[in-house]
Amino acid sequence: MGEKQLTLAEKWQIDAEAYKKGAVNKTSVPQCAKCRYVKKGDALHCNVYKEERKPGYVMFPHKECPSFCSDDILEIDVSGVKCDKIYGGVFGFCVGDMLGVPVEFSTRSEREKDPVEELRAYGTYHQTFGTWSDDTSLMLCLIDALNVGFSQDKLKENMIDFYTRGKFTPHGEVFDIGNATRDAIHNMIQGIPPADCGGKREEDNGNGSLMRILPLAFVSKSYTDEGLIKFVENVSSFTHAHDRSKFACIFYVKLAAELFAGKEKMEAFDSAIGFVDKNCCKKYADERGNFETILNKDIIYTEKNRIRSTGYVIDTLEAALWLFFHTESYRDVVLSAVNLGGDTDTIAALAGGIAGIYYGFRSIPDNWVQNICRKHEISDMISTFCCGVF
Ligand SMILES: [Mg+2]
Repeated sequence: MGEKQLTLAEKWQIDAEAYKKGAVNKTSVPQCAKCRYVKKGDALHCNVYKEERKPGYVMFPHKECPSFCSDDILEIDVSGVKCDKIYGGVFGFCVGDMLGVPVEFSTRSEREKDPVEELRAYGTYHQTFGTWSDDTSLMLCLIDALNVGFSQDKLKENMIDFYTRGKFTPHGEVFDIGNATRDAIHNMIQGIPPADCGGKREEDNGNGSLMRILPLAFVSKSYTDEGLIKFVENVSSFTHAHDRSKFACIFYVKLAAELFAGKEKMEAFDSAIGFVDKNCCKKYADERGNFETILNKDIIYTEKNRIRSTGYVIDTLEAALWLFFHTESYRDVVLSAVNLGGDTDTIAALAGGIAGIYYGFRSIPDNWVQNICRKHEISDMISTFCCGVF
């Protein structure tokens, strides 16, 4: 006698029960022979779950699908060092965001029990594989504006298009946006000058401007110190106009710019500290105390349990720096970031951005790159951007 042939519903039931108990799910046969995303013997990764006939008791998969692949391969020529670092930074940012989306707001103890080790789908926002969030969308708004010779009006137009029309989103709609950013875009729609749209109160210091500032690192060479600071302040102020947010952006951009110039981690860190000591001392005197752990380099020696992975701009910047200094590969940076829990997408994006610059595009696992939604369009934008930078 052979094995009893289970019905699809019976297989789903077994998988759902096993999943609830934390087991690695196994069934005797894959659910769907046609599905190219199926993980052999594991029904929870079967593509048919997306369809309406999914019974209510079957959970959406929260587990990894290493066999998820793309038949629409993106090939990128990153033969030049600078090009490698720009693709590494932008895709590194995007992949970090994408890995963090399904587990955003989960706690650190949840992540310790069930660490993310591969690309996941569904979860917090119920999005499919490869979905990135507002972090990447708003960063792309900036790249697009830079690609046409930057103007405030162009950046404003892009941000409004993102919010109202789902432009620069993976699936044509916004599923996540920070309150401060939404309020600021409402101000832009009212016709308020963009640099006056961001919140200026102390409580307006979420990580919403820090998370979209990275592209300025690649153009920093064209500016004097003072010019770069003004540019960063201006772009931050669209959504976050408090000095704390602006200072965080200045520090992150300068660090990323030094890595882009080819410096080693510590050398780049020292340069960024030197830069703000030299140029921001007076203007940001009141804020310096809030950045003390970074500026006196204590962050490098901080214990993991003291790293707060929240959406507060200081916590986010500290977490991204700590991750960068405590790991030795792109993959480790972003997985460690996501497994801190909390604001997983933004912290993994920011840590992944500087790691992608430092380790280069090829350090990003190809299976992750190939799964990014709208990867061809992002690649085209980066390609145009590279032409403008050189
Ligand atoms: Mg997000």
